Amino acid sequence: MDLRSLAMIISLFQMKQIELISFDAEGTVVTPDFSQAIWHEAIPALYAQKNGLDLALAKSRIREEYDTIGDQRLEWYDIEYWFNYLGLGSSEPVIESCLSKIAYYPEVTEVLASLAREYRLIVASGTPTELLSFLLRDIEPYFVRVFSSVSHYEQLKSPNFYLKICEEMGVKPGQVIHVGDNWQFDFLNARQAGITAFYIDRLGRNHQESLSDLTQLKSLLIPPI
Ligand SMILES: [Mg+2]
Repeated sequence: MDLRSLAMIISLFQMKQIELISFDAEGTVVTPDFSQAIWHEAIPALYAQKNGLDLALAKSRIREEYDTIGDQRLEWYDIEYWFNYLGLGSSEPVIESCLSKIAYYPEVTEVLASLAREYRLIVASGTPTELLSFLLRDIEPYFVRVFSSVSHYEQLKSPNFYLKICEEMGVKPGQVIHVGDNWQFDFLNARQAGITAFYIDRLGRNHQESLSDLTQLKSLLIPPI
């Protein structure tokens, strides 16, 4: 969507009221590389090794296990649940082996640095803190708070989660913008809480009211002179 249409969604009046900008983590500021490495490479490799299985077979079996739980249940996000369930021992060495894969989208640091000068920024993620603290390690200084729905509120990113964040940050939903790459958890649920939500569509799947990257958000909030 072009910037003029986006600007119409947040009217000038609303933009002046915005106090807090909330970011999803994975797929929004952090690339999927780390998650791909841990969930679809390292865990199946360890499972294959422990059970004397072929890697390809382990990968498909693990994928089936993930699908059985699905992303509407809390266990899906919980790395400790999976290590226990699959009998893989301690998750620490596996997490450590994937840390080099953590990467941010190219525009992220610059956009966060600019926005942090004008607004309070937070993270509102469904990733548990054990992983989130690693994922955000190089950009954490830009955020005044990091919220994990799973770790802090034992829930998915529901409308209630967003309301709790507003309460905790002392703002009304109308003073908040949230941006994320999950249509349900970032767009619909945040909007249901009364927050101005933007869907970030990095793959260009053409949802309405979507941003193609965070530079567009910056242009809306800090209009070029
Ligand atoms: Mg995401």
